[in-house]
Amino acid sequence: MIVTVASGKGGTGKTTVATSLACAISDSVHLLDCDVEEPNVHIFLHPKIQYQETVYTMVPEVDQERCNGCRKCVDICRFSAITVVGQKLLTFPELCHGCVGCMVVCPENAITEGGREVGKFEIGQRGAIRFGHGLLRIGEAMAPPLIRKVREQIDDKGITIIDAPPGTSCPVITAMRGVDFVLLVTEPTPFGLHDLKLAVEAVIKLGIPCGIVINRSDLGDNGVQDYAQQQGIPVLMEIPFSREIARNYSKGRILAEQSPKWREKFAGLYEKIKICAAC
Ligand code: SF4
Ligand code: SF4
Repeated sequence: MIVTVASGKGGTGKTTVATSLACAISDSVHLLDCDVEEPNVHIFLHPKIQYQETVYTMVPEVDQERCNGCRKCVDICRFSAITVVGQKLLTFPELCHGCVGCMVVCPENAITEGGREVGKFEIGQRGAIRFGHGLLRIGEAMAPPLIRKVREQIDDKGITIIDAPPGTSCPVITAMRGVDFVLLVTEPTPFGLHDLKLAVEAVIKLGIPCGIVINRSDLGDNGVQDYAQQQGIPVLMEIPFSREIARNYSKGRILAEQSPKWREKFAGLYEKIKICAAC
């Protein structure tokens, strides 16, 4: 079972839910932080890091001597990451998505595979939880290669919880694609509802079953509940606003570890997810 915990916007409590879900599952579980721009699961989990690796993405390296200026590589590149100016071929590594298209079409074999560092990948352990995350290099815009590297840790036979980046752009889709269930964390405000709708659209396009967790559920309005009902999306959990929860969050404490009541609630949430994913 692979569950991605996502949200249409940041600050909704996505990491609170992902970490608590992982802690409440009694079996061994993989908790993967794919929010590579701002990973913070490790701040709550305190895993013992056992392995670190630098992650690179492919960028073209051009042999100007071989290049005949035919522009086939320029024409195939959808990202304007390669161009010919006069007799010279120029590349823009920051725009390159590493698709290797230019390499494949070059009739002169003038392009070879170079590498650009996108960030670091780390794995570790805390009790029964196996942990993995990516740390995007400062200034790097290309998160998907690093997210794909973190996703290589998915255990197809076991349970994996993925903490996705916020929003609905490319990195989020990379974190959601091919999973069994998406848990959307939101808050009951017009902003929360707006971003939830965008996230639901993305999940529907990917054809993945989903459910909703409403955080700070006693603040705001009924818009999220009404929308969920209209769309036939189950609200699987509500977390009311509590100063104690907020205080513990600011101290880096995992909600499911604050009391047996919350551990049970999150264990119950996982049972509901299993039922919904099988529907
Ligand atoms: S496809 Fe090859 S030969 Fe043609 S412009 Fe690009 S690098 Fe040069
Ligand atoms: S690898 Fe793909 S994205 Fe990068 S320059 Fe070549 S064609 Fe463009």
